Amino acid sequence: DTTVYYDDDADRSQIDDKTVAVLGYGSQGHAHAQNLSDSGVDVVVGLRKGSSSRSAVKADGLRVATPAAAAAEADIVSVLVPDSVQPTVFETIRDGLEPGDTLQFAHGFNIHYNQIRPPEDVDVTMVAPKSPGHLVRRNYEAGQGTPGLVAIYQDETGEAFDEAMSYAHAIGCTRAGVIETTFREETETDLFGEQAVLCGGVTALVKTGFETLVDAGYSPEMAYFECLNELKLIVDLMYEGGHAEMWQSVSDTAEYGGLSRGDRLIDEHVREEMEEVLEEVQDGTFAREWITENQAGRPSYTQLKHAEETHQIEQVGEPLRDLFAWGDDKEEAAEAAADD
Ligand code: NDP
Ligand code: MG
Ligand code: MG
Repeated sequence: DTTVYYDDDADRSQIDDKTVAVLGYGSQGHAHAQNLSDSGVDVVVGLRKGSSSRSAVKADGLRVATPAAAAAEADIVSVLVPDSVQPTVFETIRDGLEPGDTLQFAHGFNIHYNQIRPPEDVDVTMVAPKSPGHLVRRNYEAGQGTPGLVAIYQDETGEAFDEAMSYAHAIGCTRAGVIETTFREETETDLFGEQAVLCGGVTALVKTGFETLVDAGYSPEMAYFECLNELKLIVDLMYEGGHAEMWQSVSDTAEYGGLSRGDRLIDEHVREEMEEVLEEVQDGTFAREWITENQAGRPSYTQLKHAEETHQIEQVGEPLRDLFAWGDDKEEAAEAAADD
């Protein structure tokens, strides 16, 4: 059975008298830095010269230094710049890592695929909230937590796990629950999940459903509502109560149709492709491709991104989203309509 760790399992004395350098002030960086600081931990944010994030850090009342200076001062260096630039940034902070310091990550890519080779006399840890950064911050401010993962790659001090747990506590993760994993497992499942299901799989499924309806002569607006907009309502039910709650909430016609057709679409061919996608993650093929793609100035990425942005579903969706809104967005939509 998986052990889930909560607030009581963390010993905050492991971090309360330490200084944490948070490198980067983006999605994860701003959340970790502010949550740590609000928890009473000394934080210094490491930003490159001329960084566009500087004014935000200042406005939030936190200290700023260069990544090198921040790392030199800190006991724990939390690497929260984009994965693709971490190896370059790491070279500038390497000298600031003293024996017994901690190099801390929110994703295992660069350690697992050997793009960063840390010195042997530091701890290497991961505290990875399973959520976008703005929710990590929002939940913390609301007195709630964000579930997370903790992993230890290198334990030089013998206290790496306890310190990582105290970090997880200070950013609010142990309020919700934290499970222990490895850098390998986190990296491979994270990449597979975002490629096959969460980001790649879902958008491809939605686009193909949309195209099928539009090609058959149905209105793009109807296709948009059916294939994209309603997805949120379905996913919310799955999130709350698994597939069972979703099946229970839809009509029995929808239930029978879905149960009898779903496996016809996501068939053995899709399973075999998923297995191949997973193998490319496991054997490093994907990592090499992505690293090379970055070195070459992202030609394929740019092309794919352009195709996605100009797809008909995006053209149809933008004005529709302004016209209709549900739930929390209702007031905003009414205000926006009044402004027009
Ligand atoms: P972001 O893309 O949001 O990071 C942007 C920040 O990095 C900015 O402050 C930017 O500063 C700085 N930055 C960008 N390039 C450089 C550079 N070359 N040198 C110095 N600073 C730079 O990162 P994320 O928060 O998305 O990701 C951080 C880590 O967290 C990654 O390992 C990611 O995998 C992981 N993670 C992310 C999640 C997410 O929801 N986004 C979820 C879980 C984990 P500037 O203003 O100077 O450009
Ligand atoms: Mg140091
Ligand atoms: Mg991910």
